[in-house]
Amino acid sequence: MEITDIVATTVTVPLEATILHSNGAHWGRFVRTIVEVVTDEGISGFGEMGGGGESSEAAFRQLKTYLLGHDPFQLEEMKFKICNPTASLYNNRTQMHAALEFACLDIMGRKLGVPVYKLLGGKVRDRIPFASYLFFRPPNGADSGQEVRTADQLVAHCRALKQRYGFTTHKLKGGVYPPDYELECYRALAAAFPEDRLRYDPNGALSVEDAIRFGQAIEGLRNDYLEDPAWGLNGMRRVRDKVRIPLATNTVIVNFEQLAANILDLAVDVVLLDTTFWGGIRPCIKAAGVCETFQLGIAVHSSGELGIQLATMLHLGAILPNLTFAADAHYHHLTDDILVGGKLKYEGGCIAVPEKPGLGIEVNRDKLAQYAEAYKAQGGYPYDRDPTRPDWFPLIPNDRWADPQG
Ligand SMILES: [Mg+2]
Repeated sequence: MEITDIVATTVTVPLEATILHSNGAHWGRFVRTIVEVVTDEGISGFGEMGGGGESSEAAFRQLKTYLLGHDPFQLEEMKFKICNPTASLYNNRTQMHAALEFACLDIMGRKLGVPVYKLLGGKVRDRIPFASYLFFRPPNGADSGQEVRTADQLVAHCRALKQRYGFTTHKLKGGVYPPDYELECYRALAAAFPEDRLRYDPNGALSVEDAIRFGQAIEGLRNDYLEDPAWGLNGMRRVRDKVRIPLATNTVIVNFEQLAANILDLAVDVVLLDTTFWGGIRPCIKAAGVCETFQLGIAVHSSGELGIQLATMLHLGAILPNLTFAADAHYHHLTDDILVGGKLKYEGGCIAVPEKPGLGIEVNRDKLAQYAEAYKAQGGYPYDRDPTRPDWFPLIPNDRWADPQG
C-alpha cells in the first residue's frame, strides 16, 4: 500500500459562544485543518490538526515530497522520515505528524476491517466518560443570555450541561477573573453539585503564591486534581509542596524528556495526554505506560477538537487500563461537526467508542466544503487575544484579570 496524495483543508466550525481562557479566547468558532491521506488502493484516511490557513495547507503539501509512496502501515518509519529529532530543531512537525498518524491508523483499520483500538491493544471499556468543560462566556452582543460571568450563571450553565449530557465531573476553565472571584465560583459549583467531581484549570496563569492559596482553599472539595495552577515544572513543584491535591498538567509535560524530568524530580501527579501535542495516539499510549510504571495518573486532554480528533481521543481512552479520570472535550460547545450523521452523541456523560473500521467516523464532504468556505470568508482568529478586551494581553504570572463586574 502506498500514499498517493495528502490533501489539507482548513475549516471553521461555530461554537455556541465565545469562550474565555487565561490567554485569550476562542472567538465563537474553532479553526481546524482536516488532512486526508489517499492511497493507491482507493482507501483514504482522515486526520485533524488545530489552527490552519494557507500556511498549514502548504506545510502538509510540502510533506508529500517525503511521504508519497510511503506505506501507511510503516508508522515508526514515518516518524523518522518527518520528525527526525535533530531536524525538528528547525522544523518541529509534531502536530502535523499527529494528524498524519491519525489518518494512517484510519487507513490501516479500514484496510483490515477493524476499529483503530484493535490495532493498538484492544479496548478495556466501551464508552468514555467526559467532564463538562465550563468556560466563562462574554455577553453575546446585546444578548446577555449566553453570558457566563457570575457564580449563579456558572452554576446554571453547569446544570443545563449536566441535564443535557449527563456530566458528573465538571472542569472550570479559569485564569480569566481574579483568583479570589474564581475561587467563589468554584465553591459555588461544589456546593451546587456535591455528588460530582471537580477540577480547575487556569492554564498556568496564577503566581505560585496565588496557586498555593487557591489550592489550599479547595482542599476539602471533591477535586480530581488542580490543573496547571502555575507555570513550569518548578512552579508546579513549589505548589505541590504546599497543596494536598494532585496536580495535573497538559502544558509542561508534553514529551518524553519532560516526562522523564518529572519522574526524576516530581512536580506533577497526573499527566493529561493530548493526541495532538504528543504527536499521535501511539506516543500517548507509550507515555501512559511510563505513567503506569511510576504510578502517575493520566487523563485524556482536549485541545479543541472536531469529530476526527474526538475519535482519536475515544480510541485512546478505550485502550488505557490506567485511565481513571473523565476525559476533557470542548466538543459539546460546537454547534455542528463535519461528520456524516452530525455530532457524536453523549449518553450519560459518555461517548461510545466507535466500532466501525478505522477511526470509525465518516467525513461529510459537503460539510467539509461548507466549513472550508466559512473559513475562507471569516479567516482565523488570534487565540491569544480576547475580543472583549482589544488592548489586553496577559503576563505570566498574570495580574491583568478581566473585571468580574462586566
Ligand atoms: Mg489544561
